[in-house]
Amino acid sequence: MDWNFETISSVMELAGDAGAATGKVAKGLETLKTLFKKAETDGDTNLKIALSELAVQVANAQVANSDLKLKLAKLQDELAKAQSFKSDLERYELWETPTGAIVYRLKQASQGSQPKHYLCPNCVEDRHKSILQGHEEHRKCPRCSTEYRFATSESVTFSRRSDDWAAW
Ligand SMILES: [Zn+2]
Repeated sequence: MDWNFETISSVMELAGDAGAATGKVAKGLETLKTLFKKAETDGDTNLKIALSELAVQVANAQVANSDLKLKLAKLQDELAKAQSFKSDLERYELWETPTGAIVYRLKQASQGSQPKHYLCPNCVEDRHKSILQGHEEHRKCPRCSTEYRFATSESVTFSRRSDDWAAW
């Protein structure tokens, strides 16, 4: 994830530099830091509210530090991206291929007009949506190059033979 504790810490340092007028802001940032710790498990709603409140506090305190404002704007932007990624990911489910590989599969109910596709779980961990490319036996992630087997060679051989038989 792009936003992290280092970002929060640097925002907090800036808030400290801005002086006494930003006492409220600093308190808001403390709250924000706590919420970031909980965000992964509890969802991002509280965090979003805290960020909005903090932005109002910064405006009210008339903080002269434009760096702080920029950092906050960046945080809000990154949070919005994280949330949109999260809601997009809800259209997928973890699925085990017949060979035991674990990938994200588009839920049937969410498919709509989109073709059936799979996401790389490795890249999902890094908050990247990477669609696996390949064919029904074997697919590869174009981003991290992890390869996933979707079928055993025996079953593929069998299905090829069946096709040959059908052709006869
Ligand atoms: Zn990947």
